[in-house]
Amino acid sequence: MKLAEQTIDFIRDWYQSKDYIALHEPRFNSIEKELMLDCIDSTYVSSVGKYVDQFERMTENFTEAKRAVVTVNGTSAIHVILELLGAGPGTEVLTQSLSFIATANAISYTGAEPVFIDVDLSTLGLSPDAVKDFLEEYTELRDDGYTYNKESQNRIVACVPMHTFGHPARIDELVKICEKYNILVVEDAAESLGSTRNGIHTGIFGVAGALSYNGNKIVTTGGGGAIITNNLNIGARLKHITTTAKIPHPWEFYHDEIGYNYRMPNINAALGCAQMSKLDIFLKDKRELASHYKDFFKNSSAQFVDEPANCCSNFWLNAIILESKEQRDYFLKEMNDMKVMVRPIWKLLSTLPMYTHCSRQDLSNSEWLEDRVVNLPSSVRITNK
Ligand SMILES: *Cc1c(COP(=O)(O)O)cnc(C)c1O
Repeated sequence: MKLAEQTIDFIRDWYQSKDYIALHEPRFNSIEKELMLDCIDSTYVSSVGKYVDQFERMTENFTEAKRAVVTVNGTSAIHVILELLGAGPGTEVLTQSLSFIATANAISYTGAEPVFIDVDLSTLGLSPDAVKDFLEEYTELRDDGYTYNKESQNRIVACVPMHTFGHPARIDELVKICEKYNILVVEDAAESLGSTRNGIHTGIFGVAGALSYNGNKIVTTGGGGAIITNNLNIGARLKHITTTAKIPHPWEFYHDEIGYNYRMPNINAALGCAQMSKLDIFLKDKRELASHYKDFFKNSSAQFVDEPANCCSNFWLNAIILESKEQRDYFLKEMNDMKVMVRPIWKLLSTLPMYTHCSRQDLSNSEWLEDRVVNLPSSVRITNK
């Protein structure tokens, strides 16, 4: 097929490489080595150290969140936010079926059940229209001020939209609808560091959001994540709970509740500080690649997934929508055979064995996208010098 051949030429030319081309790989240079070495020399490689604090402040400065709490990974960040907000056995959390597994797993860790709702074709993120339809038809706002699922009788505690591939969902509308029903919005912003809607960073529209600093994300700490929030009380509570709920004391161990060891080690934070100092450069390079992909696919049978209106996307992973499942499968095979890594979007979470029993709404858009969306190599172009 011509499309695959031409796409391979385009990608090889962009990366100036005849070798295997990965979907997304990190970029390091002397800054990372310098800070990591300094961290090792200090012996503070573990649960405390200056880089943890510094990286939290850098995350705050970049996102303009009032508080950032770095964690061991993005999944634990979502888990602990939801648990603090009251998600647990006998409750439900609304989310999208078209997401990475972490979104639903983090909900399940609390004991709550996910309810799967459709996404928008324009954002690939949770649809405010679909959420509104679900809330109007299947739930009731009771005298205690909370919203309950009329069928299961469970309270609906939270809603977790995800900003797919870095493209902001219609998060302002989602927050507005959920407010009416007293449902708390927790953003899975794991893929969207650097993405804004109406100039506001993703992750701080709701009560709190989670970022991921995993190896495949735009900025990496090896493994890691962060909670971002504009609510200082919630920020302080989450810092406490993610650091074993220890009351600070020079030598005594006193923990006042069941906390988690979800701290990001200092050595990971050192890597993060170095990476974060280059985020603006990474974003610029990704935007440039996205605009070239967009031009390249303009007159093809593939539709480039562009940033939604009024948004600035980080273009973490570029994506195209192919015409059919058959065309997609052919494209995947041709590209991967030629050592250019492309991959399909996730299988819908509601189809995986542990989630088939969960309630779901109409998922037409999700199902349509599941068959057609392909991610393209999206690493930053600069070399590892
Ligand atoms: C990466 C990612 C996470 C978090 O992943 P961790 O590996 O735990 O940091 C959560 N949700 C989505 C959608 C992601 O892409």
